[in-house]
Amino acid sequence: MILLEYEAKQLLREHGLATPVGRLLRAGDTLDDDLPVVVKAQVPVGGRGKAGGVKVARTASELVAARDALLGQKLLGHVAASLLVEELLEPARELYVAVALDRAEQAMVLLAHHSGGVDIGHAARRSGGAFKVALRGEPSRQVAGDTGAYLGLPPEQTGELHRVMAGLWQISAREDAVLVEINPLMVLPDGRMICADAKIELDDAAVFRHSGRNFETQPASAQFVVLSQQGTVASLANGAGLAMATNDAIQAAGAEPANFYDVGGGTDAAEMTRGFDRIRELPGVRAIVVNIFGGITRCDEVAEAILAARAANIATPPVFIRLEGTNAAEGSRMLKAAGIELWPSLGQCVEQAVAQVRHV
Ligand code: GDP
Ligand code: MN
Repeated sequence: MILLEYEAKQLLREHGLATPVGRLLRAGDTLDDDLPVVVKAQVPVGGRGKAGGVKVARTASELVAARDALLGQKLLGHVAASLLVEELLEPARELYVAVALDRAEQAMVLLAHHSGGVDIGHAARRSGGAFKVALRGEPSRQVAGDTGAYLGLPPEQTGELHRVMAGLWQISAREDAVLVEINPLMVLPDGRMICADAKIELDDAAVFRHSGRNFETQPASAQFVVLSQQGTVASLANGAGLAMATNDAIQAAGAEPANFYDVGGGTDAAEMTRGFDRIRELPGVRAIVVNIFGGITRCDEVAEAILAARAANIATPPVFIRLEGTNAAEGSRMLKAAGIELWPSLGQCVEQAVAQVRHV
């Protein structure tokens, strides 16, 4: 679950980090802000700067124009129900700093890049060029010093950087965040560091531990976990073990799994529709593998749910289905009648899905 920027910045402040002075603007609010300001559409995706969702207003008429261009408007597939209006800062430098879950490292990692800004988020998370160190606890002064040296900061700024890094670590640990990304972290001419943009992703599976929080975005389900925004093959299976095995098969066949999704009993069409909706939000997905092994779960009911879910969606990437177990014959008949092809084994099903990804 990705927080809106203003919610993320609330968490940053609660953990002692500095954010620009600003306020949330909703429809009907009056505009009486001290100028100049930055006006930012509150949508739960990055890349707003490039898409025109971040505007600088130096005059009252520019502020009105920015509000009208952004508030209630669709940006990157989401409607901006609110805007963040913040003081315009004039930084000496813009850096990238993040604490993120790294499955390959089996640890939280600290990431840093010397040129923060609109393009760097994706690059910093992937490229070997960025600074990266696995964390087993709150980052030490030593790690802060190394990071500062990499970033080209003078030694007297190590303390400030250390405070920022410790704050990011605390948010990941105490709020169950799998990503706390500051981009840009602005360094002002006087050396202060301000978190000018923040992306925080909370672990959906830990939502029950934070029931007091009332975020705008809600987790679709604790049974759905995003594994990779770049993943090309999505999956849906009944049972956590089968869902993991399905992803292993996708990985072994040479594609990157996008998500983990255990539909549980798997016969609730509404739940399945939500799953397909979440899959459609993942930008890299080119094929969906549905792997059902019916025991208590009845395949005909699963088929009914798949058909209902598909009927509710305008377009999903091609779906590759393997259906086995209780009432499989009836389920297969229903899907085939609807023109949906089935694959007799998981191996073939995954192979076809991966082949589909290679074609497009
Ligand atoms: P994103 O594109 O969705 O990541 O949105 P950001 O909040 O990062 O804004 C995009 C870019 O606008 C940032 O990388 C900054 O370079 C710039 N920006 C945002 N706020 C300010 C500000 O207060 N002062 C200045 N000079 N630039 C800003
Ligand atoms: Mn940003």
